[in-house]
Amino acid sequence: NEVLRLHGVSKTYGKDGPAPVEVLSGIDLSVARGEVVALVAPSGAGKSTLLHIAGLLDTPDEGQVALNGRDMTGLPDKARTEARRAELGFVYQFHHLLPEFTAAENIILPQLADGVAARAASARATDLLDRVGLAHRAAHRPAELSGGEQQRVAFCRALANQPALLLADEPTGNLDPETSDRVFDMLMALVRETGLSALIATHNHDLAGRMDRIITLGRPLA
Ligand code: ADP
Ligand code: ADP
Repeated sequence: NEVLRLHGVSKTYGKDGPAPVEVLSGIDLSVARGEVVALVAPSGAGKSTLLHIAGLLDTPDEGQVALNGRDMTGLPDKARTEARRAELGFVYQFHHLLPEFTAAENIILPQLADGVAARAASARATDLLDRVGLAHRAAHRPAELSGGEQQRVAFCRALANQPALLLADEPTGNLDPETSDRVFDMLMALVRETGLSALIATHNHDLAGRMDRIITLGRPLA
């Protein structure tokens, strides 16, 4: 019952050039349904590369990536894009919200793109914002929100299309420690309430310790 499985995944940048960089070598990892896994790695260990491969944004040189038991390796781009839209949610260190749209609209738009009716999309946005304590901020644009509020809206957007798996790269890394703590708890609550699975990269060992399991990448820090 695995949402994500990477098997023997290897990646080298500049493979055929003069200075190849081997980033990942024979990586095996899995995320079970409902599980929240921390990915802890020193900078440069290949965390972003691994998340991009898991997120079907990049392909490994060797190995397989399966989502919900379905091998995605070698599928055409169109099928990978469809699977990404249907099954994955993304959160980054920076919110990447559309500046000219309100918080609610930022959560509604991906749903409309996915064929959800306007009324249902709006109701879901309201519900998600309410869960992260931002019901009163629905009509505000990103620039009018604090960093922590912007990230909470980004979490809602990532969950808008009810993905099976959330992939997050330092989701609170841009926030001061206190805000990071609070906002991370909200993300965890949101993930638990919706029964989502997640792979969350973080440098923060305290946050990693709150997840179900920790996977380390590269050499452990001395
Ligand atoms: P992390 O997210 O753990 O910091 P990355 O996955 O971003 O690591 O990068 C791992 C290594 O691969 C780094 O040494 C980085 O410089 C290198 N790298 C990343 N992307 C490319 C690329 N497109 N071409 C060449 N080297 C790259
Ligand atoms: P990182 O922390 O990995 O550097 P950024 O905060 O720079 O990430 O986010 C930009 C990343 O989003 C790019 O590296 C790009 O690969 C990725 N990306 C591109 N298209 C999509 C997409 N459709 N959905 C999610 N992420 C995407």
